[in-house]
Amino acid sequence: MKLFGSSGTRGVVGESLTPEFVLRVAKAAGTVWNTDRVAIARDTRTTGEMFVNAASSGLASVGVDVDDLGVVPTPAAVRYCETEEIPAVVITASHNPPEFNGVKLVGDDGVELSIEQLERIEDHILAEEFDVSRWDDVGSVQHIETANDDYREELLANIDRDAIAEANLTVALDPGHGAGSLVSPDFLRELGCEVRTVNAQPDGHFPGRESEPVPENLRDLERLVRATDADVGIAHDGDADRAIFVDEHGEVISGEASLAALAAAFLEPGDVTVSAVNVSQRLVDVCEEVGADLELTPIGATNLITRIRELWREGENVPVAGEGNGGIFFPNYRLVRDGAYIAAKFLELVAERPASEIVAPYQDYYNVRINLSYDSDDELEAMLHAAAEYAESADATPNTIDGYRLDYGDAWVLVRPSGTEPKVRVYAEGHTEERATELAEEAADALRAAVDEL
Ligand code: MG
Repeated sequence: MKLFGSSGTRGVVGESLTPEFVLRVAKAAGTVWNTDRVAIARDTRTTGEMFVNAASSGLASVGVDVDDLGVVPTPAAVRYCETEEIPAVVITASHNPPEFNGVKLVGDDGVELSIEQLERIEDHILAEEFDVSRWDDVGSVQHIETANDDYREELLANIDRDAIAEANLTVALDPGHGAGSLVSPDFLRELGCEVRTVNAQPDGHFPGRESEPVPENLRDLERLVRATDADVGIAHDGDADRAIFVDEHGEVISGEASLAALAAAFLEPGDVTVSAVNVSQRLVDVCEEVGADLELTPIGATNLITRIRELWREGENVPVAGEGNGGIFFPNYRLVRDGAYIAAKFLELVAERPASEIVAPYQDYYNVRINLSYDSDDELEAMLHAAAEYAESADATPNTIDGYRLDYGDAWVLVRPSGTEPKVRVYAEGHTEERATELAEEAADALRAAVDEL
């Protein structure tokens, strides 16, 4: 794929992402999709309205009517697609900085388009093949005001409300000025929680914090948890398809640990879970303990979705899946990452015991990362060749779906070229720092030796 990456297409507005481009994407999607109606949604970014107008115009020009949902979390747009059985163009750059925006395409089954479907749309964009309508057959736009309310109602109907309400939880919430600001505060109140918020007014400048829910951006939330004596803190990214937690002491819980805890709670023997090749040893250990299978895909949510659908066709049950960035799927509810739903599933656990206890079994893991720069394609090739040989001779189970991952049972190492920089990255994780360092250094030495031999 040239135009669409593993999570749609994103760029800096006015540079790599322009209204002209979004217009063409919409015209191509409206041409390829066999539908006369398409939903459009956006997050809180300052450029969202401009791109919504471009996308609406593109769709109308190929004879498609538009349901404009306004500012909604991505999972709310997805729910609308599934219920109405129409596809959607979602204008969002998820967790990227405010100068970015992007386009995500969702099918009429409420699932992000597969790589094959995106390639078909791409072909139409590149060949400029659009079914342009006559003057008396262009589409029209209607504004839908109820998408967020309907989404919230459905969430409430699918959560153990009584258990959460009885626990009288105080919840600190930081939606990061994103689309989650419009849903999560009310949703958590309706679950019976006392809600305290920070950065909860929708604002595409993201004045309070950067959009990505990583620890360095969550200091406000940590302080809010301590100041209000909250039981748990919850943070979303810009389009609220992720949730990251802070424990009752005001410490950010790693996304790997919350994924492992939710997997441990909701996986049964014989189930399958899906994650990416950089998955933490925590999830490997949970699957081992539960007796569930762990399937690994290349990094990126689209790859997980594709694999989960394949597993469904094979008759497998996949109750939980996801990556360690807070993006967790509960596919039996819906095949989407849903920040509010992830938060509520975690609250079901917090209703029973403190957040720090829930994740305590997943704290003692150590990660090491080594970056190896290269100056030429020859050096890159030598390193990748060395990685292949190293993988073959290692006393570990190899996985070559995205780089080289070697599973040693108690630890793992991953060698993978960076997608954005001239570097090969070596990652390792184990139960002790020594073990992780030993594995990372050994693999890195093999790659260094190959470059030295050139
Ligand atoms: Mg997101």
